[in-house]
Amino acid sequence: MTQCLNSHSSSRRPLWLPPGGCLERFDADSLTTKQSAGRDTYLTAGSLEAQQGRSFARRRVNLEATDGSECGEAARFAAGALLALVDECLMGGIRQGLAFCRPPGHHAGRCSSTGFCLLNNVAVAAQYARARYPDVVKRVLIFDWDVHHGQGTQEIFWSDPEVLVVSIHQFEKGFYPNSGAATETGVGAGKGYTINVAMPPGYGDGCLWLACAKVLLPAAQRFRPDLMLVSAGFDAVEGDPLGDAMCTPAVFGKITTELKKLANHLCQGRMLFGLEGGYAAAGLASCIGQVAQALLEPLQPQAKGDPFAIEPDLAPKQASLLSVYATRLAHQMLPLHLLEGSRSVLVPFRKAACTVKQPEASST
Ligand SMILES: [Zn+2]
Repeated sequence: MTQCLNSHSSSRRPLWLPPGGCLERFDADSLTTKQSAGRDTYLTAGSLEAQQGRSFARRRVNLEATDGSECGEAARFAAGALLALVDECLMGGIRQGLAFCRPPGHHAGRCSSTGFCLLNNVAVAAQYARARYPDVVKRVLIFDWDVHHGQGTQEIFWSDPEVLVVSIHQFEKGFYPNSGAATETGVGAGKGYTINVAMPPGYGDGCLWLACAKVLLPAAQRFRPDLMLVSAGFDAVEGDPLGDAMCTPAVFGKITTELKKLANHLCQGRMLFGLEGGYAAAGLASCIGQVAQALLEPLQPQAKGDPFAIEPDLAPKQASLLSVYATRLAHQMLPLHLLEGSRSVLVPFRKAACTVKQPEASST
């Protein structure tokens, strides 16, 4: 990773991103080198309207307020790390990778820096991949498993049908950032390409797995991305001071293995992870280890079946079942038709089926 951070080619500037990106224009090289001139280079917004310009100015203030030292530079390197991985991946060097992004990025919007996030690393990477490799990357799937809703990523791709954003997060009144309801599904051409699974506090491994099996999987299979990006926050692990979820580090490794299968099926294995939150040092380290190990290990022959086809160790709680169903119901009439193709949200979770009726049996 250090090599990736330090060896990014300078031949890529200036890079113009298409409209609808998290930044209308920025100099990609400034995200990866210390030699960039001017702290606002990477925030260049020459084509922004006056109204956006005010937001832009605010963002500069935000950055510079924390940028008296190295925060701004760290933010550039965090985004640049993912860009380096995009290049490695799309130029055939690797298929999968994990960028240790700090600060995280998924709360940063088009013109806002918040929630510890300065630049939206994953969003920048998605736009960069589409702009630089347009013949290969037309559609990007962003999967966000951080315990907090990635409202910045959602805002950036809110009307974009070529970027599918799937977020599984804790959702309750007063819990930051107070967004991410199942009914938030996008707008205009992007309607149906924002998917939120709004979990109750205390959700755990079974709930996360269920959401992957019943929401992420069918959505990805119908969307058919050319590249998968994972906003890999680890504050859903039990004991994290900023989240109330109960996930174990092991489940993130297991999900990563399933995501590898999915990426192999859909996009020749192209899948990149960028760190998001994670505030319990031991838990964060353990989660990262599980994911890294899963990425490094080749898929075993017996593990090459359908993704998420096995049962988790723990059955999801009823409230989580209803959360998953609410998401599928919200997308029933939208382009990805998440209620189709299955008679029950509960399959293959037989234990849970004993306690909850099959809600969509009468809806399909
Ligand atoms: Zn978080």
